[in-house]
Amino acid sequence: MPVSTVSIPIGQWLIPAEGVRWWFDSGSFALDFATTGSIGGTAAGAGVERLHSPDDLTAWLRERFPVPVGAARSRDLFDAVALRDSIARMALAASRREAPRAGDVDVVNLYAATPDVPPSLAGGSRQAGRSVHTVPQALSTIARDAVDLFGPVNLERIRACSGDDCDVVYLDTSRAATRRWCSMQRCGNRAKVRAHRARKSRRAPASNGLAEPLFGDPIVGEPASAVPEPSASAPVEPTPAEPERAA
Ligand SMILES: [Zn+2]
Repeated sequence: MPVSTVSIPIGQWLIPAEGVRWWFDSGSFALDFATTGSIGGTAAGAGVERLHSPDDLTAWLRERFPVPVGAARSRDLFDAVALRDSIARMALAASRREAPRAGDVDVVNLYAATPDVPPSLAGGSRQAGRSVHTVPQALSTIARDAVDLFGPVNLERIRACSGDDCDVVYLDTSRAATRRWCSMQRCGNRAKVRAHRARKSRRAPASNGLAEPLFGDPIVGEPASAVPEPSASAPVEPTPAEPERAA
């Protein structure tokens, strides 16, 4: 996704306190940054503080920016956390269709008004501007992305995950705006398993324990468009012509 015309990859690994790391595509660079802090539930590995020191901030920024970024100092960490927490509160408010706090909007606007990491073309003969960009410039790029994130185009697409006990917030960038989960592999699959078990238990007396595949439709990856769930009224039993296959 172009961010101030500097192309930055979206998504990051989250590590829950008790479990296996999982890939979270927040849909937005600014939301990725917000997810380094208190946004979302700790059970998901979001909500875990990741920026304990200036070095943590340096590492996070250098992983993202395709241009060199200087080392963060204590003051930079203080600023970064302030900006991040404002973006996180705004994202939570947006997911609840509530208005953001004016103070948080002010913080985002303040950083967005400072010089960001400028765009540049390869192939020139000399360096224009800094060869190593500063942390404040990187924070400005994040703030400008947040201005875009919270613009009117996206407001209906900022949502909390539909999973039980999961309130991870994401930007739904799917074409049909049908994303429901923080991750299909995580909350999406859990919901499918639960729905499957519920259907199976309802049919159990008549089905005679015949095995059926756990998943009848693709589950890998977040679908670009909706994979329709079989509706309750649609026939789900195999047709007589379909050959029996061993599980
Ligand atoms: Zn979730």
